[in-house]
Amino acid sequence: MKTDKKDIRALTKDQLRTFFVEQGDKAFRGNQVYEWLWQKSAHSFEDMTNISLKTRQMLQDNFVINHIRVDQMQRSSDGTIKNAVRLHDDLVVESVLIPTDTRTTACVSSQVGCSLDCKFCATARLKRMRNLNPDEIYDQVVAIDNESRLYYDRPLSNIVFMGMGEPLMNYKNVLKAIDKITSDEGLGMSPKRIVVSTSGVPKMIKKMADDGVKFKLAVSLHSAIDEVRTSIMPFNATFPLTDLREALQYWYSKTKNRITYEYVVWDGINDKRKDVDALVEFCKFAPSKVNLIEYNPIDDGMFQQANSKALDMYVSVLEANNITVTVRRSRGKDIDAACGQLANKS
Ligand code: SAH
Repeated sequence: MKTDKKDIRALTKDQLRTFFVEQGDKAFRGNQVYEWLWQKSAHSFEDMTNISLKTRQMLQDNFVINHIRVDQMQRSSDGTIKNAVRLHDDLVVESVLIPTDTRTTACVSSQVGCSLDCKFCATARLKRMRNLNPDEIYDQVVAIDNESRLYYDRPLSNIVFMGMGEPLMNYKNVLKAIDKITSDEGLGMSPKRIVVSTSGVPKMIKKMADDGVKFKLAVSLHSAIDEVRTSIMPFNATFPLTDLREALQYWYSKTKNRITYEYVVWDGINDKRKDVDALVEFCKFAPSKVNLIEYNPIDDGMFQQANSKALDMYVSVLEANNITVTVRRSRGKDIDAACGQLANKS
Protein backbone atom coordinates (compact mmCIF):
# COMPACT_ATOMS: atom_id res chain seq x y z
CA MET A 1 0.00 0.00 0.00
CA LYS A 2 1.48 3.36 -0.99
CA THR A 3 1.09 6.25 1.41
CA ASP A 4 2.73 9.58 2.09
CA LYS A 5 2.64 9.07 5.85
CA LYS A 6 6.00 8.83 7.55
CA ASP A 7 7.31 5.54 8.91
CA ILE A 8 7.14 6.07 12.65
CA ARG A 9 10.15 3.85 13.22
CA ALA A 10 12.36 6.31 11.36
CA LEU A 11 12.03 8.53 14.47
CA THR A 12 14.45 8.33 17.36
CA LYS A 13 13.12 8.10 20.89
CA ASP A 14 13.85 11.79 21.44
CA GLN A 15 12.01 12.76 18.28
CA LEU A 16 9.01 10.72 19.40
CA ARG A 17 9.04 12.38 22.82
CA THR A 18 9.17 15.81 21.17
CA PHE A 19 6.33 14.84 18.85
CA PHE A 20 4.07 14.05 21.79
CA VAL A 21 4.96 17.27 23.59
CA GLU A 22 4.07 19.18 20.43
CA GLN A 23 0.74 17.38 20.42
CA GLY A 24 0.09 18.68 23.95
CA ASP A 25 0.73 15.26 25.48
CA LYS A 26 3.46 14.10 27.86
CA ALA A 27 6.96 13.25 26.61
CA PHE A 28 6.60 9.95 28.46
CA ARG A 29 4.00 8.87 25.90
CA GLY A 30 6.89 8.79 23.44
CA ASN A 31 8.68 6.24 25.63
CA GLN A 32 5.60 4.04 25.75
CA VAL A 33 5.11 4.09 22.01
CA TYR A 34 8.82 3.52 21.44
CA GLU A 35 8.66 0.43 23.61
CA TRP A 36 5.72 -0.88 21.57
CA LEU A 37 7.58 -0.26 18.33
CA TRP A 38 10.87 -1.87 19.23
CA GLN A 39 10.75 -4.10 22.31
CA LYS A 40 7.28 -5.41 21.66
CA SER A 41 7.49 -5.26 17.85
CA ALA A 42 3.93 -3.98 17.43
CA HIS A 43 2.64 -4.41 13.89
CA SER A 44 -0.13 -1.86 14.24
CA PHE A 45 -1.19 1.04 16.43
CA GLU A 46 -4.17 -1.03 17.59
CA ASP A 47 -1.76 -3.35 19.39
CA MET A 48 -0.73 -0.52 21.73
CA THR A 49 -3.27 -1.32 24.40
CA ASN A 50 -2.00 1.03 27.11
CA ILE A 51 -2.33 4.02 24.77
CA SER A 52 -5.73 5.73 24.62
CA LEU A 53 -7.93 5.12 21.61
CA LYS A 54 -7.77 8.79 20.69
CA THR A 55 -3.99 8.84 20.71
CA ARG A 56 -3.82 5.65 18.68
CA GLN A 57 -6.12 7.24 16.11
CA MET A 58 -3.94 10.35 16.03
CA LEU A 59 -0.87 8.17 15.39
CA GLN A 60 -2.74 6.33 12.69
CA ASP A 61 -3.53 9.66 11.00
CA ASN A 62 0.11 10.72 11.04
CA PHE A 63 2.23 7.62 10.62
CA VAL A 64 2.54 4.11 9.27
CA ILE A 65 4.41 1.14 10.70
CA ASN A 66 6.18 -0.41 7.73
CA HIS A 67 6.51 -3.82 9.25
CA ILE A 68 7.90 -6.66 7.16
CA ARG A 69 5.69 -9.64 6.39
CA VAL A 70 6.97 -13.19 6.23
CA ASP A 71 5.29 -14.27 3.01
CA GLN A 72 6.54 -17.78 2.88
CA MET A 73 8.41 -20.01 5.29
CA GLN A 74 10.23 -23.10 4.03
CA ARG A 75 11.70 -25.77 6.31
CA SER A 76 14.64 -27.90 5.26
CA SER A 77 15.07 -31.54 6.22
CA ASP A 78 18.00 -30.44 8.40
CA GLY A 79 15.86 -27.98 10.36
CA THR A 80 16.99 -24.83 8.56
CA ILE A 81 14.16 -22.37 7.94
CA LYS A 82 14.08 -19.83 5.11
CA ASN A 83 11.79 -16.82 5.23
CA ALA A 84 10.74 -14.92 2.14
CA VAL A 85 10.23 -11.46 3.59
CA ARG A 86 7.98 -8.95 1.86
CA LEU A 87 8.78 -5.28 2.36
CA HIS A 88 6.31 -2.39 2.39
CA ASP A 89 7.04 -1.61 -1.27
CA ASP A 90 6.47 -5.26 -2.26
CA LEU A 91 10.12 -6.13 -2.81
CA VAL A 92 11.27 -9.41 -1.28
CA VAL A 93 14.42 -10.43 0.59
CA GLU A 94 15.29 -13.69 2.29
CA SER A 95 16.55 -14.57 5.75
CA VAL A 96 17.51 -17.90 7.21
CA LEU A 97 17.34 -19.58 10.63
CA ILE A 98 20.12 -22.11 11.18
CA PRO A 99 19.73 -24.36 14.21
CA THR A 100 22.51 -26.46 15.75
CA ASP A 101 22.49 -28.43 19.00
CA THR A 102 23.52 -25.42 21.01
CA ARG A 103 22.62 -22.31 19.04
CA THR A 104 20.19 -20.70 16.69
CA THR A 105 21.76 -18.38 14.14
CA ALA A 106 19.90 -15.85 12.03
CA CYS A 107 21.36 -15.08 8.63
CA VAL A 108 19.93 -11.74 7.55
CA SER A 109 19.93 -9.59 4.42
CA SER A 110 21.14 -6.00 4.25
CA GLN A 111 20.14 -5.04 0.69
CA VAL A 112 17.52 -6.03 -1.85
CA GLY A 113 19.78 -7.70 -4.40
CA CYS A 114 23.46 -6.79 -4.19
CA SER A 115 25.77 -4.05 -5.45
CA LEU A 116 28.60 -6.49 -6.11
CA ASP A 117 29.10 -9.05 -8.83
CA CYS A 118 30.72 -12.15 -7.35
CA LYS A 119 30.59 -14.76 -10.10
CA PHE A 120 29.74 -17.65 -7.78
CA CYS A 121 26.85 -16.03 -5.91
CA ALA A 122 23.18 -16.27 -6.89
CA THR A 123 22.29 -12.96 -5.25
CA ALA A 124 24.65 -11.18 -7.64
CA ARG A 125 22.34 -12.12 -10.49
CA LEU A 126 19.67 -9.87 -9.05
CA LYS A 127 20.43 -6.25 -9.54
CA ARG A 128 20.67 -4.14 -6.45
CA MET A 129 17.26 -2.58 -5.97
CA ARG A 130 17.75 -0.68 -2.75
CA ASN A 131 19.24 -0.66 0.72
CA LEU A 132 17.20 -2.05 3.58
CA ASN A 133 16.14 0.35 6.32
CA PRO A 134 17.28 -0.28 9.89
CA ASP A 135 13.81 -1.47 10.92
CA GLU A 136 13.65 -3.90 7.98
CA ILE A 137 16.88 -5.50 9.14
CA TYR A 138 15.72 -5.51 12.75
CA ASP A 139 12.37 -7.08 11.82
CA GLN A 140 14.09 -10.00 10.07
CA VAL A 141 15.92 -10.74 13.31
CA VAL A 142 12.74 -10.50 15.38
CA ALA A 143 10.91 -12.83 12.99
CA ILE A 144 13.65 -15.43 13.34
CA ASP A 145 13.80 -15.00 17.11
CA ASN A 146 10.07 -15.75 17.22
CA GLU A 147 10.49 -18.82 15.00
CA SER A 148 13.36 -20.03 17.16
CA ARG A 149 11.19 -19.80 20.27
CA LEU A 150 8.27 -21.44 18.52
CA TYR A 151 10.05 -24.33 16.79
CA TYR A 152 13.17 -24.81 18.89
CA ASP A 153 12.02 -23.61 22.27
CA ARG A 154 14.87 -21.17 22.74
CA PRO A 155 15.70 -17.62 21.77
CA LEU A 156 17.93 -16.67 18.91
CA SER A 157 21.60 -16.77 19.97
CA ASN A 158 23.65 -15.46 17.02
CA ILE A 159 23.30 -13.25 13.97
CA VAL A 160 25.33 -13.25 10.78
CA PHE A 161 25.02 -10.61 8.06
CA MET A 162 25.52 -13.18 5.32
CA GLY A 163 22.19 -12.97 3.56
CA MET A 164 21.54 -10.88 0.49
CA GLY A 165 23.59 -7.76 -0.06
CA GLU A 166 26.87 -6.20 0.97
CA PRO A 167 26.44 -4.85 4.51
CA LEU A 168 29.26 -2.33 4.19
CA MET A 169 27.54 -0.75 1.18
CA ASN A 170 24.63 -0.06 3.53
CA TYR A 171 26.75 0.65 6.55
CA LYS A 172 24.72 3.39 8.22
CA ASN A 173 21.51 1.36 8.31
CA VAL A 174 23.26 -1.86 9.31
CA LEU A 175 24.86 -0.03 12.22
CA LYS A 176 21.53 1.45 13.30
CA ALA A 177 19.93 -1.98 13.17
CA ILE A 178 22.73 -3.51 15.23
CA ASP A 179 22.42 -0.68 17.76
CA LYS A 180 18.78 -1.60 18.17
CA ILE A 181 19.45 -5.35 18.29
CA THR A 182 22.04 -4.89 21.03
CA SER A 183 20.28 -2.19 23.03
CA ASP A 184 18.11 -3.00 26.03
CA GLU A 185 15.34 -1.12 24.29
CA GLY A 186 15.52 -3.67 21.49
CA LEU A 187 16.63 -7.28 21.85
CA GLY A 188 19.50 -6.77 24.27
CA MET A 189 21.81 -9.16 22.40
CA SER A 190 25.56 -9.08 22.88
CA PRO A 191 27.46 -7.62 19.90
CA LYS A 192 29.95 -10.47 20.32
CA ARG A 193 27.26 -12.76 18.92
CA ILE A 194 26.97 -10.78 15.72
CA VAL A 195 29.16 -11.24 12.65
CA VAL A 196 29.21 -8.77 9.77
CA SER A 197 30.47 -10.45 6.64
CA THR A 198 31.91 -8.32 3.86
CA SER A 199 33.51 -8.94 0.54
CA GLY A 200 36.01 -6.35 1.72
CA VAL A 201 35.45 -2.63 1.28
CA PRO A 202 38.68 -1.16 2.69
CA LYS A 203 37.41 2.35 3.41
CA MET A 204 34.41 1.02 5.31
CA ILE A 205 36.44 -1.50 7.30
CA LYS A 206 38.54 1.42 8.54
CA LYS A 207 35.43 3.43 9.30
CA MET A 208 34.04 0.56 11.39
CA ALA A 209 37.28 0.39 13.32
CA ASP A 210 37.12 4.15 13.95
CA ASP A 211 33.52 3.83 15.09
CA GLY A 212 34.65 1.34 17.73
CA VAL A 213 32.13 -1.34 16.79
CA LYS A 214 32.00 -4.41 19.01
CA PHE A 215 30.69 -7.02 16.61
CA LYS A 216 32.90 -9.48 14.73
CA LEU A 217 34.21 -9.16 11.21
CA ALA A 218 34.32 -11.82 8.53
CA VAL A 219 35.83 -11.22 5.11
CA SER A 220 34.93 -13.25 2.04
CA LEU A 221 38.42 -13.71 0.73
CA HIS A 222 38.29 -16.77 -1.57
CA SER A 223 41.72 -15.96 -2.95
CA ALA A 224 44.80 -14.10 -1.71
CA ILE A 225 46.09 -13.63 -5.26
CA ASP A 226 44.83 -10.46 -6.96
CA GLU A 227 44.50 -11.95 -10.43
CA VAL A 228 42.48 -14.90 -9.22
CA ARG A 229 40.34 -12.85 -6.85
CA THR A 230 39.54 -10.29 -9.55
CA SER A 231 38.46 -13.05 -11.91
CA ILE A 232 35.83 -14.31 -9.46
CA MET A 233 35.09 -11.09 -7.55
CA PRO A 234 35.51 -8.35 -10.17
CA PHE A 235 35.26 -5.44 -7.70
CA ASN A 236 38.66 -6.62 -6.41
CA ALA A 237 40.09 -4.62 -9.32
CA THR A 238 38.89 -1.47 -7.54
CA PHE A 239 39.78 -2.64 -4.02
CA PRO A 240 42.93 -4.74 -4.49
CA LEU A 241 44.34 -6.99 -1.79
CA THR A 242 47.00 -4.50 -0.64
CA ASP A 243 44.26 -2.02 0.27
CA LEU A 244 42.24 -4.75 1.94
CA ARG A 245 45.26 -5.92 3.87
CA GLU A 246 46.04 -2.42 5.08
CA ALA A 247 42.44 -1.88 6.20
CA LEU A 248 42.41 -5.19 8.07
CA GLN A 249 45.63 -4.37 9.86
CA TYR A 250 44.05 -1.08 10.87
CA TRP A 251 40.92 -2.92 12.03
CA TYR A 252 42.93 -5.23 14.24
CA SER A 253 45.09 -2.46 15.69
CA LYS A 254 41.96 -0.58 16.75
CA THR A 255 39.60 -3.38 17.80
CA LYS A 256 41.92 -6.26 18.77
CA ASN A 257 39.30 -8.46 17.18
CA ARG A 258 40.50 -11.43 15.19
CA ILE A 259 39.25 -11.61 11.59
CA THR A 260 37.61 -14.62 9.99
CA TYR A 261 38.36 -15.29 6.33
CA GLU A 262 35.63 -17.12 4.47
CA TYR A 263 36.99 -19.21 1.69
CA VAL A 264 35.64 -21.67 -0.84
CA VAL A 265 38.06 -23.95 -2.66
CA TRP A 266 37.05 -24.48 -6.29
CA ASP A 267 38.27 -26.96 -8.80
CA GLY A 268 40.84 -25.40 -11.14
CA ILE A 269 40.47 -21.92 -9.65
CA ASN A 270 42.21 -21.81 -6.28
CA ASP A 271 43.07 -25.43 -5.51
CA LYS A 272 46.85 -25.31 -6.04
CA ARG A 273 49.70 -25.14 -3.59
CA LYS A 274 50.46 -21.55 -4.63
CA ASP A 275 46.91 -20.56 -3.63
CA VAL A 276 47.33 -21.95 -0.12
CA ASP A 277 50.74 -20.38 0.23
CA ALA A 278 49.31 -16.97 -0.68
CA LEU A 279 46.54 -17.47 1.88
CA VAL A 280 49.08 -18.35 4.57
CA GLU A 281 50.98 -15.15 3.82
CA PHE A 282 47.78 -13.10 3.90
CA CYS A 283 46.83 -14.60 7.28
CA LYS A 284 50.08 -13.34 8.75
CA PHE A 285 49.10 -9.69 8.26
CA ALA A 286 46.63 -9.70 11.13
CA PRO A 287 45.42 -12.27 13.68
CA SER A 288 42.85 -14.32 11.85
CA LYS A 289 41.33 -17.70 11.20
CA VAL A 290 40.08 -19.41 8.07
CA ASN A 291 36.62 -20.81 7.55
CA LEU A 292 36.52 -23.17 4.58
CA ILE A 293 32.97 -23.09 3.25
CA GLU A 294 31.39 -25.75 1.14
CA TYR A 295 30.38 -24.50 -2.31
CA ASN A 296 26.69 -24.36 -3.02
CA PRO A 297 26.19 -24.73 -6.75
CA ILE A 298 24.09 -22.07 -8.39
CA ASP A 299 23.27 -23.92 -11.58
CA ASP A 300 25.61 -23.04 -14.41
CA GLY A 301 28.45 -25.45 -13.66
CA MET A 302 31.20 -22.84 -14.08
CA PHE A 303 32.26 -23.40 -10.47
CA GLN A 304 32.81 -26.74 -8.86
CA GLN A 305 33.80 -27.58 -5.32
CA ALA A 306 37.39 -28.84 -5.26
CA ASN A 307 37.94 -32.49 -4.35
CA SER A 308 38.72 -33.57 -0.82
CA LYS A 309 42.43 -33.88 -1.60
CA ALA A 310 42.62 -30.15 -2.28
CA LEU A 311 40.67 -29.39 0.88
CA ASP A 312 42.94 -31.65 2.93
CA MET A 313 45.96 -29.83 1.51
CA TYR A 314 44.47 -26.49 2.60
CA VAL A 315 43.79 -27.77 6.10
CA SER A 316 47.20 -29.33 6.59
CA VAL A 317 49.21 -26.39 5.20
CA LEU A 318 47.22 -23.88 7.25
CA GLU A 319 47.56 -25.96 10.40
CA ALA A 320 51.27 -26.45 9.82
CA ASN A 321 51.49 -22.65 9.87
CA ASN A 322 49.52 -22.42 13.12
CA ILE A 323 46.50 -20.89 11.46
CA THR A 324 43.16 -21.98 12.87
CA VAL A 325 41.00 -23.50 10.18
CA THR A 326 37.44 -24.79 10.36
CA VAL A 327 35.47 -26.54 7.67
CA ARG A 328 31.85 -25.47 7.49
CA ARG A 329 29.23 -27.70 6.06
CA SER A 330 26.27 -26.17 4.29
CA ARG A 331 22.82 -26.13 5.74
CA GLY A 332 19.44 -25.83 4.08
CA LYS A 333 20.62 -26.70 0.56
CA ASP A 334 17.38 -28.48 -0.33
CA ILE A 335 15.44 -25.23 0.04
CA ASP A 336 18.09 -22.96 -1.58
CA ALA A 337 18.84 -21.41 1.81
CA ALA A 338 22.59 -22.02 1.88
CA CYS A 339 25.29 -19.34 1.43
CA GLY A 340 25.11 -17.73 -1.97
CA GLN A 341 21.82 -19.37 -2.91
CA LEU A 342 19.50 -16.59 -1.83
CA ALA A 343 17.87 -15.34 -5.01
CA ASN A 344 14.13 -15.11 -4.41
CA LYS A 345 13.50 -18.22 -6.48
CA SER A 346 10.04 -18.62 -5.08
N1 SAH B 1 28.32 -9.58 0.75
C1 SAH B 1 28.74 -10.22 1.96
C2 SAH B 1 27.70 -11.09 2.63
C3 SAH B 1 26.86 -12.00 1.77
S1 SAH B 1 27.59 -13.47 1.11
C4 SAH B 1 30.01 -10.98 1.73
O1 SAH B 1 30.47 -11.03 0.59
O2 SAH B 1 30.60 -11.47 2.68
C5 SAH B 1 27.86 -14.54 2.48
C6 SAH B 1 28.96 -15.55 2.24
O3 SAH B 1 28.55 -16.55 1.29
C7 SAH B 1 30.21 -14.94 1.67
O4 SAH B 1 31.33 -15.46 2.32
C8 SAH B 1 30.18 -15.40 0.22
O5 SAH B 1 31.43 -15.39 -0.35
C9 SAH B 1 29.59 -16.78 0.37
N2 SAH B 1 29.03 -17.32 -0.87
C10 SAH B 1 28.48 -16.66 -1.90
N3 SAH B 1 28.05 -17.51 -2.85
C11 SAH B 1 28.34 -18.75 -2.40
C12 SAH B 1 28.12 -20.06 -2.91
N4 SAH B 1 27.52 -20.25 -4.07
N5 SAH B 1 28.54 -21.11 -2.16
C13 SAH B 1 29.12 -20.93 -0.98
N6 SAH B 1 29.36 -19.71 -0.43
C14 SAH B 1 28.96 -18.64 -1.13
